[in-house]
Amino acid sequence: MTTPTSNPSPVQPLHHLECGECGWTLTILANTTDPVCQCPWCGWDDLDISRVETKGAGQQIRCKTHGAMAVLILSDNIETDDFINELYCPFCKRS
Ligand SMILES: [Zn+2]
Ligand SMILES: [Zn+2]
Repeated sequence: MTTPTSNPSPVQPLHHLECGECGWTLTILANTTDPVCQCPWCGWDDLDISRVETKGAGQQIRCKTHGAMAVLILSDNIETDDFINELYCPFCKRS
């Protein structure tokens, strides 16, 4: 096992947006339960033609070697409460 990463952010829910205007599929990692009300890419706010969903969870971590990164768990059944506290850097080899 390698040393866990340091300075994790709070676990954050993932907000998914399939924008009906610009056509991108976006995943937003944000520590809020407020609903998404516009596309961060194009500013489109007519979400009737877009698909918005909150599912999954993620955390920003920092590795001494590999720097800052975000780990996102996309599975439907992950709750932010389920998240373990110390994630391992996926790019560090076991010693
Ligand atoms: Zn858009
Ligand atoms: Zn690393």
